[in-house]
Amino acid sequence: MDSPLKGLYDVLPVSLQNLALTGFSIALDKMRYGGEFQNIKSHLEKSQWHSEDELISYQELKLSELIKYCYKHVPYYTGVMNGLSLKPSDICTIEDLQKLPLLTKDDIKNNFSALLSDQYSYKKVKKGHTSGTTGSPLEICYSDNLIHYNYAMLDRQYSWAGVNLAKHGDKVAVIRGNTIVPLNNSQPPFWRYNHYHNQLLLSSFHLKPSNIHYYLDELERYTPRVLDGYPSTVYVLAKYLDNNNQTLKLDSVLTSSETLYDFQREVIEKSFECKIFDYFGSAERVLFTTECENHTGSHIGMEYGITEICNQDGECVIENEIGTIVATSLHNYAMPLIRYKTNDMSAIKKERCQCGRKHPLLLDVTTKAEDMLTLRDGRIISPSVLTHPFKPVTSILESQIIQNDYDNITIKLNVDDKFSTHDKKSLLHGLSERLGSDVNIKLEIVDEIKRTHTGKFKWVISKVGLGI
Ligand SMILES: [Zn+2]
Repeated sequence: MDSPLKGLYDVLPVSLQNLALTGFSIALDKMRYGGEFQNIKSHLEKSQWHSEDELISYQELKLSELIKYCYKHVPYYTGVMNGLSLKPSDICTIEDLQKLPLLTKDDIKNNFSALLSDQYSYKKVKKGHTSGTTGSPLEICYSDNLIHYNYAMLDRQYSWAGVNLAKHGDKVAVIRGNTIVPLNNSQPPFWRYNHYHNQLLLSSFHLKPSNIHYYLDELERYTPRVLDGYPSTVYVLAKYLDNNNQTLKLDSVLTSSETLYDFQREVIEKSFECKIFDYFGSAERVLFTTECENHTGSHIGMEYGITEICNQDGECVIENEIGTIVATSLHNYAMPLIRYKTNDMSAIKKERCQCGRKHPLLLDVTTKAEDMLTLRDGRIISPSVLTHPFKPVTSILESQIIQNDYDNITIKLNVDDKFSTHDKKSLLHGLSERLGSDVNIKLEIVDEIKRTHTGKFKWVISKVGLGI
C-alpha cells in the first residue's frame, strides 16, 4: 500500500480495514498469480523430481537464452562482453559463466541505467529494494515473469509443508513486516484479516510481553493450519508458550528472511508441536531456497537461478567449503543480474538429500558477513556460537547483540520478572568464555528490541568489518 492510501487506511475503523486489505489482496493477485504463474507452478511441480542432468540442462538452456538477450538488450553486458571479446555462444554452460566477472552491489549502483534492459521502461517496471540494514538500500527492477516465478517458488515451499496456498485455501496466519495495525493502537486487535486468502495478518510491531497473550488467544480462536513469519517474532510467541508450559498445535511453521538459529527452531517446534520449514528468497531475486520434509538443509531452487560459492578471487570453491554466495537470476529480463556477489556466506553440501530431490542443499544460508562478530585478535565469531550462553536463561524474551567496536559489545535484553542476578552472571560468564575476557560486555535491559522499518529483526549487529 503506498503512503497516501496508507494514511487513509490508518484512520478507517477495523472492519473497513479488513475489507480494504481483502480488496487490496484481490488487486495484488493479478500481479502475483497472473501471466505465466500457472505454467511455472506446473513446471516446478514436475521439475522437483527431475534428475540432476535434467535440472542442469534446464539451467543451461535458460542461461543461453538470457546471455543472448543481455548481449542484445542490456548495454552493461554488451559492454562487458565486448570488453572481454566474448560472444553469446561462448557462454552456454555453467562453467562458461566464470568467464564473466562478478557483479557487485557497487557495480549495480554505478551502472544502474545500463543494467536495465532496453525492452523495459524504468517508469513502468516493478521495483524492489534490499533492506539496507547495513548500508544504503539497493534498488532492483523486476520483470513480471520473475514475480510469477517467485510466487510459484513460494507455492512449492508451502506444498512441501503440506499447505494449499491458493485463494480460499488453507487458513494461514502471517506475522511479518505488514504495517496493518496503526502504530499508535495500544489495544487489541493487533491483527487484521484477508478474507480472500483465508489469512490472519498479525502485526510484528505490537509484540511485547504484555500483549503476547492476545496474539496467542487469537491464534487459538482462528485455528490456522500454519504460521508464517520471521523466526524472531515466531520465537517470541513460542517462548512465551514454553515459559508458561503451554503449547498451541499447528500443522507447520514457515520462517524466512532472517537467520533461523537452532535454539529458535527447538522452542518453536516444541511450542507449536510441528516442524519448521525455513525458506529464503533474496531481495535481489537471484536465489530461492526451500526446506523439504526431511529438514536436512535448504534446497537450492535450481530452476530459479544458478548458485555458485566463490572465494575472494571470484573462483568457485568445492562442495562443503564455505565461501560467498554468487548467484545468477535466470528470469529477470528487466534487470538481469549475472554472477551477483551477495553478502551471504555458505557452502553447498556434498551429500544430497534423502527426499529424492536432486537440488543441492545450502548450509547457513543467511549468515551475512555483518552478522558475524570480528574480534581484535581477528577471530570471527558466528552468531550460532553465541546462542549457547542464552539457552539456559529462560527469563530472556528477546535479545540483541551489538558490537560497537573491537572491544565493546552491548547486549540488549528484554526480560520477564524472573530475570535474576544469577541469570545475569551466568550470561556474562558464558559470553566471556566465548569472546575472551578482553572484551567489555555490557547488559542493557530494554522494554523492546527495535525492529527495522520492515519489521525485521537482526540478532547480531556488528559495526566492525570482517577484516578480510
Ligand atoms: Zn530434501
